[in-house]
Amino acid sequence: MSTSTTAKVATSAATVPNGDLYQQALARLDAARPHCEIHPETFERLKRPKSMLSVSVPVRMDDGSLRLFEGYRVRHDDTRGPTKGGIRYHPQVDLTEVKALALWMTCKCAVVNIPYGGAKGGISVNPKELSRMELERLSRGFVQQIADFIGPDTDIPAPDVYTNAMVMAWMMDEYSKIRRAKCPAVITGKPLSHGGSKGRDDATGRGAFYCIREMAREGGWKPEQTTVAVQGFGNAGQHVATLLAGDGYKIVAISDSAGGLYCEAGIDVAAACAAKSRGARVPELVDDAKVTRGAQARVVDNAELLALPVDVLAPAALENQITGDNAAKVQARFVVELANGPTTGAADAILFDRGVVVVPDILANAGGVTVSYFEWVQNRSGYYWEASEVHDKLQRIMAREYAAVRSRAEQAKVDLRTAAYAQALSRIGEAVNAQGTSAFFSASARPAASAT
Ligand code: NAD
Repeated sequence: MSTSTTAKVATSAATVPNGDLYQQALARLDAARPHCEIHPETFERLKRPKSMLSVSVPVRMDDGSLRLFEGYRVRHDDTRGPTKGGIRYHPQVDLTEVKALALWMTCKCAVVNIPYGGAKGGISVNPKELSRMELERLSRGFVQQIADFIGPDTDIPAPDVYTNAMVMAWMMDEYSKIRRAKCPAVITGKPLSHGGSKGRDDATGRGAFYCIREMAREGGWKPEQTTVAVQGFGNAGQHVATLLAGDGYKIVAISDSAGGLYCEAGIDVAAACAAKSRGARVPELVDDAKVTRGAQARVVDNAELLALPVDVLAPAALENQITGDNAAKVQARFVVELANGPTTGAADAILFDRGVVVVPDILANAGGVTVSYFEWVQNRSGYYWEASEVHDKLQRIMAREYAAVRSRAEQAKVDLRTAAYAQALSRIGEAVNAQGTSAFFSASARPAASAT
């Protein structure tokens, strides 16, 4: 397996502590800046979100009491199109996290060259503590609070951690009631029966899978000899594991918030997905002979999973998992980031020094937003595509943009993350330039015709 990619560089992100995600996000822009074409004004603009909304959502609980939930929606930048980004339900959600995730969305959409800016939303809640009816009331209540902030031409939400197609359907329905018109294009990740797109359910995993295929092609990998550990066996994690297993890769470890399972002989991914859909937690699968195919297996915690001797590590849970504290223990030679922000700046520097190739989140997990874009296009045209058309279009975008990032990295002698940010910043910079920066307007004393 080839480890060749790019020169090892330290980034300024290395000096940022793990805690403040937004500072980490900004540090990544700083690291990419010397390697792209962007006007200083544009760069300054991107450091501040365009607008931020903070709401409290009152929910009548099943026992009759009233609870207030804090929610956020941040639109980071809409230079290249309406803003786009998921809604997360998690106890750790706060404004700093949502701001960082929104900035990453701006960069992600630009990396894969789809005509969107970036946004994100979230509610600070543990959805596992709510009944189904409480969850529906919370989701509809949140839309009532943010309805003037979102819209098919302004800001289009989608699912993220602990939100799913049904939550999107409730949200679309609530928004449509407020507007007194059916508005499927206001949100993506909907069920197929409510204007969802074929191929959206596995799009994030599939996008990462297409990146891995490109890497495998370049490196001459043999799938059956290539081991993979997936941290976070949810939507993104289960789909990438399923697709890789289908190509013959050996998925040796998976995990969820309860812990992980390590089976050196290879996990039966379909059996593990089926067990998860029945409500099992990953550590419980150690005794499931279908999942382990009767081979020896053991429970590992999430820290141990990150340090297993595998070829490919796919973090697909939450941010800040590979940090300055544990990066030296990572044995994988390739890290493919399905989660947003799983690797801190401090960890990046350590991984580069050790020759570990990291395919950054803003590229590796961009399949989700790309197929969300396809869904929005289909909603607006009222004409729906076959799954094969979705897969084909997604594959072409991922392969093209992976190659572009790869070649930018080689030319600039930087890592893939810096190259991906540089690609994004160059595209945003180009869009701003087309409307004029001070380079254009300071020449405004001259006649317009000569100032082109
Ligand atoms: P999900 O809720 O379907 O799955 C998340 C999984 O992670 C669950 O199995 C959960 O138990 C597990 N988990 C939570 N905390 C964990 C921990 N500390 N250690 C290990 N596992 C843990 O969410 P998802 O949609 O698959 O999203 C996962 C990541 O992928 C997030 O970072 C999200 O932002 C990112 N992402 C998702 C999409 C998408 O389309 N779903 C798109 C782009 C990025």
